[in-house]
Parts: sequence; C-alpha cells; structure tokens
Amino acid sequence: MPDLDTIVRDIAEEMRARPDRGEVARYIPELAGVDPQAFGLVVIDGDGRAAVGGDADIPFSIQSISKVFTLTLALGMVGDRLWRRVGREPSGSPFNSIVQLERENGIPRNPFINAGAIAVTDVILSGHQPREALGEILRFMQFLAQDNGIAIDEKVAASEKRTGFRNAALANYMRSFGVIENPVDYTLGVYFHHCAIAMSCRQLATAGLYLAYSGLHPLAGHTVISAERARRINAIMLTCGHYDGSGDFAYRVGLPGKSGVGGGILAVAPGKASICVWSPGLDAAGNSHLGRIALEMLVKRTGWSIFGV
Ligand code: GLN
Repeated sequence: MPDLDTIVRDIAEEMRARPDRGEVARYIPELAGVDPQAFGLVVIDGDGRAAVGGDADIPFSIQSISKVFTLTLALGMVGDRLWRRVGREPSGSPFNSIVQLERENGIPRNPFINAGAIAVTDVILSGHQPREALGEILRFMQFLAQDNGIAIDEKVAASEKRTGFRNAALANYMRSFGVIENPVDYTLGVYFHHCAIAMSCRQLATAGLYLAYSGLHPLAGHTVISAERARRINAIMLTCGHYDGSGDFAYRVGLPGKSGVGGGILAVAPGKASICVWSPGLDAAGNSHLGRIALEMLVKRTGWSIFGV
C-alpha cells in the first residue's frame, strides 16, 4: 500500500479535476456563495500525524456535523435520559422532514435529523441562558480541536435565522408535544448558531479523534467520554449520519460518518484515524457528493471499512 500522504494527496488531486461537483446548498442564502471548486481532505491518527490534501485549512460552515458534538455534550449532561426525548433509529426521510413527528408523539427519530438535533440542543439549553449554552458548545469544539480560534460565522447564523421556517415549524411542532421545553426562539437561536460554527478539515478531524480512540482524545490527553459511549455515538453516525443516504454511505464507505450541508463529512476509522473531507457540492440527499466519493476511495486504498477489506 502506498503511504497515507500519497493516497490523500492523490485523492485530493483527482477530486479537484472532476467536473461532477453536485449543487451547493442554496436554501441558506449565505451558503449559496461558497466556491464549489473547494476541496479538502485531512486524515489524522492517534499520534497527531496528519495526511493532508487540498484546502485543509480553510474554514467552512460545519452545519450538521455540529450535531455529533451536541449529542456528546447532551449525553454528558443527562446521560441515557436523553433517549426519552429523541430516538435512535434511522429515519429513511430527508434531514428536514416533519412527517414522522406526528405519528411518534413529537419524538424525533434520531439526534441527527434536524428535529432530533433541535431537541438535543433544547436539552443542552435547559437551565442556561442561550449565550451560556452556546459558549459551552463553542468551548467544547475549541478544546476538541485544540484551537481557541474557532468561531461562529454570525452571517451564516443570521441567514439561517431569517429563512429557517422549516426548522421553526419542527421546533414549534415538538413544543406542542412538550418535547421542546424552552422558548422556541431560544432553542432555535442556539441551534442555528452551533450549525454556523466555521472550522477547517484539519480542525474537524482533530475534534473527531475521541470517537476514533474509544472516548480518549489522544492529543488533548483527556478522556472525553467512556469507550461505551464513543462506540454508541459511532453506531448512530453509521446508521443515521447521512439521513436517507445513510444506507448507501455504509454500503460504499463503511465508516461512521456525519455530513453537513456546508459540504463537510466527518468520518471515523476506529483505532486508525479521524477523517474530514470538504467539498461544498451536495447530492440529492444533501450530503457532499465528492466528499463521499473521496472517502470511498480512501477506504478502498487503506482497507479501513469497519466491514472488512
Ligand atoms: N443548519 C442546517 C439546517 O438546519 C443543517 C442541515 C444539515 O447540515 N443537513 O437546515
């Protein structure tokens, strides 16, 4: 097998040259202007060795990738009681779907669809002011990425707040069942802001290391969560991390992964590496088109699929 640096560099070069780039998300106006030609790939192992290709250090909107970290925080705060407010089954529906909420008493299917992530944000918010809850999330990201420069892109947050009618509908609907406990505006405000955190592939791959190493963040030298909890979060990433594209992602890539409409994907190769890829063009399910293809190549060349070589 060629060394990892060569594999990552080759994939980045190949991806940059491809004409099929998918469509940049337009429903959040501020994201519509992102350059579809951007491409970054970073693989970091437990010793902090990074293999990088393309735009490894350009910050982008992490969007739904933030849901992995809010899930981690919420589990740390309330433990398994979280599962009274949100399920852990794949939804088979688009990320912003509302239909299942009516049948299931306002309990979202899983923490990674929008409804589920809004419910998780509401759990983090309870007992705090929105500013405190947001500060806690941001500090957690800075700690995991080992970088205090990470910030929220206020323009993206404001853009989503102005146009996020569907998320407002989801939140109000859940509030009618008592699944959301705080004022809907507060919960949505925190949700839009944590989705608007800007990070680079290198920062996100660093932040994901605790999931690849059984809850222990090797660079921070800290146990972030128990091994059991890390394993379970990985399981939910595998089954739900790509919405109604989760089955296909497992089939093609075979790693726990979480996508965001900013075009990023965080993927975890347990015991081997934490990986982040960024290409802003999306497929029909709202997942990075070339991001998925790049990960498929990486897994083929490294043999890292959790399902075997
Ligand atoms: N903030 C986005 C939204 O709520 C997140 C969606 C995503 O990344 N899939 O619509």
